[in-house]
Amino acid sequence: MIVVRSRWLLPIADRPMLNGWVAIDRGRIAAAGRAGASLPMRDDAPLVDLGAYAVLPALVNAHVHLELSWLRGLVPRAERFTDWVPAMLQQRMTGAPGEDAVAAAVAAAIAQMRASGTGLVGEISNSLVTVDPLRRSTLEGVVFHEVVRLAADEADDVLDMALRAQEAQGVTGRFPVSLAPHAPYSVSPRLFQGLRAAQARTPFLPSSVHLAESPEEVELLDTGEGPWRQLLERLGAWDPAWTPPACSPVRYLEQMRVLGPSLLAVHAVQCTDEDLGVLRARGTTVVTCPRSNRYVGVGDPPAARFYRSGVAVAVGTDSLASNDDLNVFAELAALRHLAPAVPAATLLESATLVGARALGLETTAGTIEPGKPARLIAVALPPEVVDVEEYLVSGVTPDRVHWVEDLIADCGFADRA
Ligand SMILES: [Zn+2]
Repeated sequence: MIVVRSRWLLPIADRPMLNGWVAIDRGRIAAAGRAGASLPMRDDAPLVDLGAYAVLPALVNAHVHLELSWLRGLVPRAERFTDWVPAMLQQRMTGAPGEDAVAAAVAAAIAQMRASGTGLVGEISNSLVTVDPLRRSTLEGVVFHEVVRLAADEADDVLDMALRAQEAQGVTGRFPVSLAPHAPYSVSPRLFQGLRAAQARTPFLPSSVHLAESPEEVELLDTGEGPWRQLLERLGAWDPAWTPPACSPVRYLEQMRVLGPSLLAVHAVQCTDEDLGVLRARGTTVVTCPRSNRYVGVGDPPAARFYRSGVAVAVGTDSLASNDDLNVFAELAALRHLAPAVPAATLLESATLVGARALGLETTAGTIEPGKPARLIAVALPPEVVDVEEYLVSGVTPDRVHWVEDLIADCGFADRA
């Protein structure tokens, strides 16, 4: 056992503790407490005093597409989502590098996430090429196998293929593969129903959907017209038999009984207060990706309204096709800018416990509590920092982020019995 002490300990489940400590025993948290609280463990346990660091649980990136990492910098920022999407698809179709280059970009992205303090990931994948690299990494999380097809007569075949791929990859252990409908405008009602029935067989797995991202999505669902329809027609993905539900994206999924506590509703930029009330009532978690929203031209998410509505809010970076990096601390800074009145502690909870809960991993991650794995990071604090929580949502850069296990090893200790 080893006791680690630092200027600040942020258990997330409790207020920050000045000169707090955490006892780690064979990779698990044995105890944690405030300065002065007697250490409830063996007297001879070595004490590592980190000094001017803030120790907190590893961050959770609840929405990323690692398989798109090779697209970093290749798809320009856009004014409208219906301009960004075709540019991205064009790049994917004509500019894709070989398998090795894709794999190298995935590996670099995983390393980048680790270096910026991310421990848990909700990965969206079409090809499932990221499953093996994630299972080999130190990260934990879920791979959402994304299912896309608006043509109703192809729903059964598409679902069948997805189920076979899921079975081949497995639904247990590290990075189980779950099924995830892409979005209301790209999945037929029949496919939504099929997915719902399939997911009922794996109730322990979360699912995910891109929801209410762009104004064009809202227009399409309301009227069946607009730039999204034109784009789907151009892509050959439009189904003339599809009937617009003439309501908001959230109402549409509510009507189809897709919403529930195991669903991650990604983006929600266009949600009204009424929509947010529906998501809250269903226990659905909103995953906000403010930097990606800006990048693809859908506007800023109504972050202050998210929190005011009482809906659970997790944080994601989205992919490197629509973001400069995968640093969740940078995403928190964007969120802080959009919701200046929300307590920093609440934003930190979004990037830890709420994200872990959304991924179904709250019993093993998201807080510093006895029994959980010691998946902890330590952020080097500049001397002038007074409000540690505010500092942690101000845009911490990776050079300040360390893993507690690495710092312990650097001190010449090994965490052994
Ligand atoms: Zn996405």
